Amino acid sequence: MDYDVLIIGAGPGGIFSAYELIRLKPELKIGVFEAGNPLDKRKCPIDGVKVKSCIGCKPCSIMNGFGGAGAFSDGKYNITNQFGGTLYEYIGKNRAIELMKYVDEINLSHGGEGTKLYSTANTEIKKLCLQNDLHLLDASVRHLGTDINYVVLEKIYDELKDKVDFHFLSPVEHVRKCGDGYEISGKDFCVSGDKCIISAGRSGSKWMGRVCEEMQIPTKSNRVDIGVRVELPAAVFSHLTDELYESKIVYRTAKYGDLVRTFCMNPKGAVVNENTNGIVTVNGHSYEDPEKQTENTNFALLVAKHFSQPFKDSNGYGESIARLSNMLGGGVIVQRFGDLITGHRSTPSRISEAFITPTLNATPGDLSLVMPKRILDGIIEMIYKLDKIAPGTANDDTLLYGVEVKFYNMEVEINENLETLHPGLFIIGDCSGITHSLSHASASGVHVARVIAS
Ligand SMILES: Cc1cc2nc3c(=O)[nH]c(=O)nc-3n(C[C@H](O)[C@H](O)[C@H](O)COP(=O)(O)OP(=O)(O)OC[C@H]3O[C@@H](n4cnc5c(N)ncnc54)[C@H](O)[C@@H]3O)c2cc1C
Repeated sequence: MDYDVLIIGAGPGGIFSAYELIRLKPELKIGVFEAGNPLDKRKCPIDGVKVKSCIGCKPCSIMNGFGGAGAFSDGKYNITNQFGGTLYEYIGKNRAIELMKYVDEINLSHGGEGTKLYSTANTEIKKLCLQNDLHLLDASVRHLGTDINYVVLEKIYDELKDKVDFHFLSPVEHVRKCGDGYEISGKDFCVSGDKCIISAGRSGSKWMGRVCEEMQIPTKSNRVDIGVRVELPAAVFSHLTDELYESKIVYRTAKYGDLVRTFCMNPKGAVVNENTNGIVTVNGHSYEDPEKQTENTNFALLVAKHFSQPFKDSNGYGESIARLSNMLGGGVIVQRFGDLITGHRSTPSRISEAFITPTLNATPGDLSLVMPKRILDGIIEMIYKLDKIAPGTANDDTLLYGVEVKFYNMEVEINENLETLHPGLFIIGDCSGITHSLSHASASGVHVARVIAS
């Protein structure tokens, strides 16, 4: 065997697997194969001047490379079992929390010290939410910020680079059984290892599906979250964001009984494009450094869509909706809430006359031509509800960017060790379908490393 452990993907799942394996068993020979670039070579060409919107680079510097999808994220590490994944169903609630806290300690010891840990414990906001038919989920959240998150990744890479073989720009095409171990191959490499950890994230979801098919690993898929990113003046949400930083609030719509939730809140942040498999959707982030902060807060409002028989392609459904917005707007569409309610398309002049300056250069348009009615109705209901706890949310000038889609990877059949039916082949992080966040993906990496080391 060329390696003791092969790791596919250098996102949080892959990084924390390598980190913990080297800590516990420094003698192990570990090879990490990553489709994207090293951290310092990850540069998105969008500069707002020459390149204004996504030009579909391959690999995409936002999604691929050391640090994975989280490298330029807001670096919010939520320590909770209430959202961010269902890792606890596999390894137990206490263990999941313990591992998320352990990941937090590592982040703190690699440049994250001094960043703030927010908590929903004992907050009066919970009561305010309940009084308005809204439900605040419990969590502690460490906000590293995009800048400190980058520093942490740099430091972890510096610590690992001489102990682990990193192979960048090396997308793995095939995974095969090879004796008691595994062989992985790409365009110009073919290596073997005793154990193989796959942590290919959301961007590797289609490839993961193919590998599961080839290796007859059972999967199931039935959920996608569709919605918009809301952007408003930071002052509107400041009483929530100052205390909690991020508040995950859930509402059950009166009309359809669907669950709508706030997601990925970025106080004084910026709205950004996200490119998944060539489809441009929207996301957001913010900086810890006050000089890089904006006057706006953004967050997603997502409606969870679960499908039953016979439909199986929930991600395909989400993609089709995102494609519609890409078709009409050439990318992401932005609309003023007031225009949406009165049935008007937003125009460049309406957007420029608004009392809020958009942080993303998106195409003014009409989201009602893109989003299914049921989903849009749920979002509108939720905006009016949020207006009760944060007056100003339902202002005409509130900006809605669409579409935001949370693609859930199909759930891969794995056991409590996060191991597939093939002994020694582990699937972790977002590509397993059981994590959807930095903290859960990282914790799954630590868990697998400990299983392998023991
Ligand atoms: C803009 C943005 C902001 C976000 N903000 C937050 C946040 O604040 N908090 C939070 O909890 N989550 C956030 N997320 C989600 C979070 O980044 C992911 O949940 C997390 O990164 C998942 O980690 P992972 O290791 O499973 O996968 P990824 O981070 O996606 O890493 C997978 C890696 O595998 C590589 N890869 C894929 N296929 C192959 C292949 N075939 N061969 C080799 N390599 C491959 C990819 O290039 C990638 O680098 C954000 C995501 C985005 C895009």
